[in-house]
Amino acid sequence: MEKIKIAIQKSGRLSEKSLDIIAEAGINLINGSRKLISLASNFPLEILYLRDDDIPQYIADGVADAGIVGENVLAESGAQLKVLERLGFARCRLSLAVNKSLDYSDPEYFEGKRIATSFPGILKTWLDKNKINAEIHVINGSVEIATGIGLADAIFDIVSSGSTLLSNGLKEVEKVMDSEAVLLTSPEMSDGKREILDEFLFRLRAVLASRNNKYILLNAPDENLDNIINAIPGMKSPTVLPLALKGWSSVHSVVNENDFWQVIGKLRDFGAEGILVIPIEKMIV
Ligand code: ATP
Ligand code: MG
Repeated sequence: MEKIKIAIQKSGRLSEKSLDIIAEAGINLINGSRKLISLASNFPLEILYLRDDDIPQYIADGVADAGIVGENVLAESGAQLKVLERLGFARCRLSLAVNKSLDYSDPEYFEGKRIATSFPGILKTWLDKNKINAEIHVINGSVEIATGIGLADAIFDIVSSGSTLLSNGLKEVEKVMDSEAVLLTSPEMSDGKREILDEFLFRLRAVLASRNNKYILLNAPDENLDNIINAIPGMKSPTVLPLALKGWSSVHSVVNENDFWQVIGKLRDFGAEGILVIPIEKMIV
């Protein structure tokens, strides 16, 4: 029987979360020692452990059928691959940063300057778009110290909280792209593999949906039942069951994390009581 090969980062910021999502999809990896390959015992799938930079090329070459990387790494690789799903972790941005005492006003500043980065392709595209000529210094790792040691006038690097920049005396001045982990695939694949990948994706989506939603239960006074039902943007329509106590009902539904506190606020205003919020294990939408 056919199997699909999914490439994930061997060790780094994406590794744990990539393995978590695969485990939550009910896929059990044997010899999960992360040497080079692990095989799943209950799904036709193999995991390849690679450096994240190598993953897009391995997919493009057909060595792996799919993979998980940051959008920044995909953009840098220039590979023509398909993003199947955004995975909601490893959120960051790629930005230009300069000395924090500098009086920065616009991208013109970078004309003729030296910029250190591990992402020369993405930077070059941005510089060209802004019609700026700058010297790009490619360094792998510890980009944030490049200005301090006199190697560059500015850096272009991954930023999340900004604390690394701050502790190196830098400030973020231009955001070039946002990034998060994505599931990538090659546009060409046998029908058998495509079918397996579709099943994998179906499970992954169930995991992602469950992470973003909560099951809620509450007691509602019947006179406000319509208001309460309208306040819940549920999947289809909430379940309403009578309580033993006359004049009250129990309402069950699913609420998205983003709307959550706003919905809870409205429910309380309409007299809902005993609100319970329960995590969802899997959600098939
Ligand atoms: P490798 O050895 O596999 O090449 P790496 O050093 O290039 O690893 P990591 O530092 O593990 O990469 O980062 C992997 C990805 O995680 C980055 O490409 C980016 O998409 C994301 N990332 C990096 N730093 C952060 C951060 N501080 N917050 C959120 N996401 C981040
Ligand atoms: Mg890397």
